[in-house]
Amino acid sequence: TYGAEFLARWLTAAAEDVDREADRLTDLDSAIGDADHGANLKRGFAAVAETLAKEPPGTPGAVLTTAGRQLISTVGGASGPLYGTLLRSAGKALGDEERVGRERLAEAFGAGVEAVARLGGAQVGDKTMLDALVPAAEALRESFAAARAAAEEGALATVPLRARKGRASYLGERSVGHQDPGATSSALLFAALADTAA
Ligand code: ADP
Ligand code: MG
Ligand code: MG
Repeated sequence: TYGAEFLARWLTAAAEDVDREADRLTDLDSAIGDADHGANLKRGFAAVAETLAKEPPGTPGAVLTTAGRQLISTVGGASGPLYGTLLRSAGKALGDEERVGRERLAEAFGAGVEAVARLGGAQVGDKTMLDALVPAAEALRESFAAARAAAEEGALATVPLRARKGRASYLGERSVGHQDPGATSSALLFAALADTAA
């Protein structure tokens, strides 16, 4: 089972990965958005890692809600409130349990993903982070490795899609042929989770 320390380690690793991949995320966003996705997440996750290091929350749920709140208050772009909602809702779903199993985590991420869909009004196929998040949360019922693979596959599958939500949707047909930045960062987060669990 997994405790607060595991989730904090995940988000700290995610912050490092986001920092390393920030230019790639921003390049993707420059093709179909406003070229700030890497910078947005870099700022947000650096703040998350700092907060978790300074005041480590005592339960898995509290780690996720703290991180979610931090993202919402630090990131100006659409992705801040969306990822913030993902983590906060997942954290709330975990309640105050001290340790949780992977299946419990999968359930909580499922609740978080549903909250993201409600907030942004998007569904799978709209070329957003949900194209990676929905299959990843589902596959997490099976294993961390399956979740990682599902997220990566979901992100790659956004390339031929036409964006129906977010800034990229303003481009209409011209959004086709580019990988969605948010789906790409979601794949990064689930890759970090699988690495942390390994
Ligand atoms: P902004 O578009 O405000 O500059 P970012 O560049 O940080 O914000 O994030 C863009 C990403 O946010 C997109 O690639 C997409 O995955 C995601 N996104 C945008 N709008 C929505 C939405 N309504 N629902 C789900 N995800 C969305
Ligand atoms: Mg952007
Ligand atoms: Mg922006």
